[in-house]
Parts: sequence; structure tokens; C-alpha cells
Amino acid sequence: MTGRYLLRTFGCQMNEHDSERIAGLLEADGFTPSGDAAEAEVVVFNTCAIRENADNRLYGNLGHLKPLKDANPRLRVIVAGCLAQKDQGRIQERAPWVDVVVGTHALPGLLDLLHRSETEGPQMDVSEFTELFPSALPARRDVAHHGWVSIAVGCDNACSFCIVPLVRGPQLSRPMGDILAEVEGLVRDGVLEVTLLGQNVNTYGRDLKGPGSRRRPLFADLLRAVNDVDGLRRVRFTSPHPHDFTPDVIEAMASCQKVCEHIHLPLQSGSDAVLKGMQRSYRAATYMECLGAIRDAVPGIAVSTDVIVGFPGETQEDFQRTLDIVEEARFDSAFMFQYSPRPGTRAAQFEEQVPKAVVRERFDRLLALQERVSMERNRALIGQTVELLIEAGGRGGRAQGRTRTNKIVHFDGDAEPGVFVDALITAAQAHHLTGELVRETARAG
Ligand code: SF4
Repeated sequence: MTGRYLLRTFGCQMNEHDSERIAGLLEADGFTPSGDAAEAEVVVFNTCAIRENADNRLYGNLGHLKPLKDANPRLRVIVAGCLAQKDQGRIQERAPWVDVVVGTHALPGLLDLLHRSETEGPQMDVSEFTELFPSALPARRDVAHHGWVSIAVGCDNACSFCIVPLVRGPQLSRPMGDILAEVEGLVRDGVLEVTLLGQNVNTYGRDLKGPGSRRRPLFADLLRAVNDVDGLRRVRFTSPHPHDFTPDVIEAMASCQKVCEHIHLPLQSGSDAVLKGMQRSYRAATYMECLGAIRDAVPGIAVSTDVIVGFPGETQEDFQRTLDIVEEARFDSAFMFQYSPRPGTRAAQFEEQVPKAVVRERFDRLLALQERVSMERNRALIGQTVELLIEAGGRGGRAQGRTRTNKIVHFDGDAEPGVFVDALITAAQAHHLTGELVRETARAG
């Protein structure tokens, strides 16, 4: 069976990374990508279980697919990702036209399940923790010069709003040698920038054993080792947990020249009472201390965060503390979420759920505040010259590049993907910058 495939991805970078593997597997089997379900032989939804609207969206999409499946019984429908792991057989109960349900640990068997579904009917593999890292699988990267590299799966924390420990299991760190081999392979393939991925990257290695009497490698060791890979130009990582940000990681960030000046440091709430209810093991003051130490060690670092608005029991005073800390911390950007209970999480059982209209009103206020701060932070860059790695562009058109601080800059001029340029920042918006090309500084190879 060959033909076209359509792949839709929901959720976080971990899912984007898994989607590159799904695309790689399908293309290794002879499939080619398509943007249109009507011309596809295979449609894959790589799902997210974290937000309510993600599963609503999945079942809505599956509903839209039903007439196509009725008209073309050869069409194969695959559901992968966290929702597949969590909902398992319920997916095929709700949408019996789904051919394959494949959990987060079973991706290597995807093609086998697909082929078996043609002769044996619907298939499902949601086996737990059988395959740690699908890194040996082929990948089709969305951005040629950037690679996601999984360093650990699962999480040992138990944040009360989060479904991840349930669907991804406890933390399992990947041996450092395997990670370095993958990074070196990516560099040979033209990759200039990698993002190290884990649910809580700065507890990387705690579950590993060191060889012989040597101590196990930890995240700071990994950062230094990746920094030493010849030919690699930029290193990023996501996400760290504020509680686990040790001084050696901050020191490694400051001393490793390739580690970019950007950190995503999830705050979630500025209220200690809410953080306690969330089972986040830091408080507002310790978060700010951590942020201050990072900013002292890495001047000019850009900071992004996550904030959840309307967690059960959040009062106006709690919310005001979040507004205060967001004003004080001056984040470059923030991913803000309106809390919605996720079945299977502790917080879904909590009484005192905040009415939706109140959550919405608080969310709008927080959004307006962060938009203003983001704008102010970006305006401060006008007149500066920054290094960009070009992600999109060509001859005689408009190009787009990314700064080391993870900001997107648009400019008119010739610049091809994979080229490094210097650009002068001339204008700012809350979510991107505009610039002028100064000079090309380097290109791949
Ligand atoms: Fe979920 Fe908390 Fe683990 Fe992050 S640290 S994956 S929010 S349990």
C-alpha cells in the first residue's frame, strides 16, 4: 500500500518530534505528504491529552473524516499520541472507522499495525513503556536546519493538572552516548541547531547509572557535551522545571557558547496557594530567585513561560499575585491557558472549580498585560544588530530568521534557509520583529 498521507499534529514539541518520526516512517514506506484528506490514503492524527479542546478537536476531525471513509474504504485512519495512550479502546468505540490506535511507546510498530489493519481489521497497540526512544526511526524534519532530540521521556513529578505522567510514564533518561550520536548524525545531515527535549530536562540523568564507579551524567554534563559537537551552531532545550534548576546547569548555560540565550521557565501561577494546589514544588519567591540567578549568569537572556488561569480555588487575590509577578518578571512571551479539568488528573476532582466566565475575564486581563510587556521588551531591541538563522526565504523575497533569543525577525532581501545573517532591528511587534539585512555571516557546510 502506497500513496499520499496527511498528518495533523496537536499539542507540544514532544508531539512535533514524534510527528517527524511518523512522517519519516510513512515516507520510508513509499508514502508522500499531502495537505488534503480527500486525496490521502492515510490520515494520521497525532494527539494531545493535555487540553480539553485538543480531544474535542480530535473527535470533531474524526467526525469530518467519516464521510470520506464511507466513500473510500481503502482510506486508513490512524490516531497516535497521548490521547491514544490515554483513551485506548474508547477511541474506536467512539469512532469505529479508526483503523489504528498507536500509543506513545509503540510508534516503531506503526507500519506493521497499518499493514495488518488492511487484512485483519482495526488494530491497537498502547503497550506501556516498551520502546523508550524512537530515535532509530527515520525522520522527516519540518525545518531542514533544526532537529528535535529527545533526551528523556516521562516525568517523575505529579502536577495535579497534568496528564503526562499517566500517559508518558515515569522519567526514563536516554544514555548520553546515544544522544550525542544522534546529534552528530543530525549535524552530518546539515542540522545547525538542536533542541533537547524532555518533560523536565533538568532532571535528566537522575535515573541513569554511571559506567563503573563514575557518577551518572546529569543535565549540565549533557549540555557541555552537546556544546562540544563539531559543526553544531546552536543548542536549545525545553522544558526545565524551576524546582530542579541547579547552579551547575546555570553555569553550563553561561559557559557553553552554543547554548542560546533563551529559557522557557514555566511559572503556572504567581500565588503560593495555587502552586501548592497544583503540586508545583516551588513558590513564587523561589521562582523569582531562580529567574534572577539565570539572568545574572546569562545577560540578555530572553524568557518565556506558561501560566494557567482559573485553577480550582484561584481567588481574585491569587490571580492578582499572578498579575504582579508577570509584571515584575517581564517575560518576553508567555503561553497562557484557561484551566479546564482533565479526566484522570487530581485537579479534576477538586471542588471550587472557577466559573468559565471568570476564567475568561482573568485570562483577557493577563493576556493584555503580557502583550504590553512583550511589546516593550521587543521595542527595546530596535537599533540593535542580531544574528539570525534563516528558516524561510529565497531570492528577492521576504525572509524569516530566528535570533539566539528565539525571536522571529522578518526582513526584505535575499537569504536562504540555513544561512546565518546579521540583521538590524527596525520595528517591533509583540510577537515578532522587523529588520534590515546587514550581511551574511555563514552558511551550512
Ligand atoms: Fe506534567 Fe508537571 Fe511533569 Fe511538567 S513537570 S510534565 S506539568 S507533571
